[in-house]
Amino acid sequence: MLMDTGGFKLERETGSIEAELDELVVQKTIETFKKADLILLLFDADKITGEDEELVALLRPHWNKLVAVINKTEGGRKEEEAWNYLKFGFDKLIMISAEHGDHIPELMDEITNRLDFSKVEEGEEIQQIKIAIMGKPNTGKSTLSNLLTHTESSIVSDYAGTTRDVVEGSFTYKNRHFQVLDTAGIRRKAKVKEDVEYYSVTRAIKTLDRTDIVFYMIDANEGFAEQDSKVAGYAHEQGKACVIAINKWDLVVKDDKTMDEQRRKYENDFSFMAYAPIIFISAKTGQRIDRLLELIKFVDEQNAMRITTGALNELLARATARVEPPSDKGKRLKIYYMTQPTTRPPAFAVFCNDPELFHFSYQRYLENQIREAYGLEGTPVRLMIRGRG
Ligand code: GDP
Repeated sequence: MLMDTGGFKLERETGSIEAELDELVVQKTIETFKKADLILLLFDADKITGEDEELVALLRPHWNKLVAVINKTEGGRKEEEAWNYLKFGFDKLIMISAEHGDHIPELMDEITNRLDFSKVEEGEEIQQIKIAIMGKPNTGKSTLSNLLTHTESSIVSDYAGTTRDVVEGSFTYKNRHFQVLDTAGIRRKAKVKEDVEYYSVTRAIKTLDRTDIVFYMIDANEGFAEQDSKVAGYAHEQGKACVIAINKWDLVVKDDKTMDEQRRKYENDFSFMAYAPIIFISAKTGQRIDRLLELIKFVDEQNAMRITTGALNELLARATARVEPPSDKGKRLKIYYMTQPTTRPPAFAVFCNDPELFHFSYQRYLENQIREAYGLEGTPVRLMIRGRG
């Protein structure tokens, strides 16, 4: 498992938000050193600085785990100067180019030679269900991630968007293994170019590829925003199971009607993904976290559901008998056959005489019939309309 540390700045100013953030990243990086089996210490062939010395000194306690790697030496570039790094006492330097791929096999050999695989047990691969926590900055994503994984692996602070990297933590609930991919907050404006936040947004969206379940968070005090529909919309388009969590419920002044009213409002806001359950939680106090864990387990099962072809075609026969398929200019849609080729999300291939006749409203009807019979709560479904041949 490869862990990317947040980057290391030894010379740090004090007093500013930036400085506090840097300090957090450094603390986290130091924790990572302790956990790691091997540390790839990457130097830049272009810049041998005074800071390197300090960094090496800091890593002395972990000397046996160090692999000294010099980057940006494509085609032997700057190699001669780079040998100066030997002065720190490394037995070996591996000169690579991360961008061009020079000597990567050598680095991989070094990694595999240096690791102790006797500790690794062979066996069935444990299935990990991957959760991405998404939402605007400061909605409480890191707080929830910490609560779920019971570690300090995410950096929590009051400043918006301090979670710079996708941080992973794991937990087990009722014999299921979950992995939390903590994504940084999605920024209010999409225009930000090269700063940390922009990088985080791109990364959060990329994280979706690797995710099974999206946990979409809203700050109960702030409510729903345009941006939420965009980002949750990505999750929907990518076919991810989703739970919507309204966080900081502890701060809401409420009576016995508030939750129902709020629920109706959010159902309306998230009408484009009406299948997603909505839950009111507090990541801070732990309110309804058990219920949340149940929901995660449940929507994951729904997302992975497989329905037999036999059952689907019985359903199709009933559905078409109840509501006749549409016709256009004297030609009627005929649906021959339906089957489910894939899961995550459940996708149904429907074979018919002419896809042009398969109006959106009839697709909607069919999807609703499937949902009525099988639930599929929390997950999008796909219909793939196929013509003859
Ligand atoms: P992120 O940017 O989405 O990762 O948000 P954080 O997890 O860093 O939380 C932002 C702030 O909101 C922190 O000060 C948290 O302590 C606070 N916070 C998070 N969840 C809750 C909650 O459920 N209730 C209250 N009252 N505060 C919360």
